[in-house]
Amino acid sequence: MSSPEVATTIVRRWLALALETINAHEDELGQLDAAAGDGDHGATMVRGLRAAVATVEKADGSAGHLLAAAGAAFADAAGGASGALVGALLSTTGRTLADHPCDTPSVAKALQAGLTMVKRLGKAQPGDKTLIDALQPFVDALAAQPVDQPLAAAWRAALPAARQGAEATGAMVARRGRSAKLGERSLGHPDPGATSIVYLLQAMNDALGASGA
Ligand code: ADP
Ligand code: MG
Repeated sequence: MSSPEVATTIVRRWLALALETINAHEDELGQLDAAAGDGDHGATMVRGLRAAVATVEKADGSAGHLLAAAGAAFADAAGGASGALVGALLSTTGRTLADHPCDTPSVAKALQAGLTMVKRLGKAQPGDKTLIDALQPFVDALAAQPVDQPLAAAWRAALPAARQGAEATGAMVARRGRSAKLGERSLGHPDPGATSIVYLLQAMNDALGASGA
């Protein structure tokens, strides 16, 4: 990635695209959550992303700083389990990235810290049918990319791992979060949080692609 200015532009562009995508899939995400949860996941994500977009439009500073501010705004506005967890993912990733250049190793390390925070807060592990089942394979795939691989190419190469991870949740029974109470009812439907993570990662792929970073 060529400059700090490009990086902040990408963060703003990413959140705008993420809001657009999640908005377009709000009903689908709500229906996935209704299978074994309370049906609010799409609305929760839209609320969080609206607040995140408004925050980064006003905020200054590095890409890491913008992400941290976006995470705090997301958590405040969204509510619910995913509000706290996705908010913490963004803010921990942003704080870890801080003022480092947004190259592939730094971004992978920052996302690893974000994932660790999500696991600590939610006490879920891979296989529990949560957003971790999309996030963990993506982070692992990104961290495995060559260190000199440009971020856009590394991100694109890691994306299929997230998609496969989210798809695999369809065959899992929820062991964490609200849907764990209805266990078997979640079988046959992909996890809503894992599905959202794929949309968020896809939006970043598009933002990076448009920048040529
Ligand atoms: P709520 O469950 O409070 O209604 P949402 O419906 O917005 O929140 O989000 C549900 C999603 O949150 C789930 O699909 C799952 O991916 C994620 N989730 C819930 N609990 C956990 C947890 N303990 N760890 C990781 N992710 C979780
Ligand atoms: Mg819900």
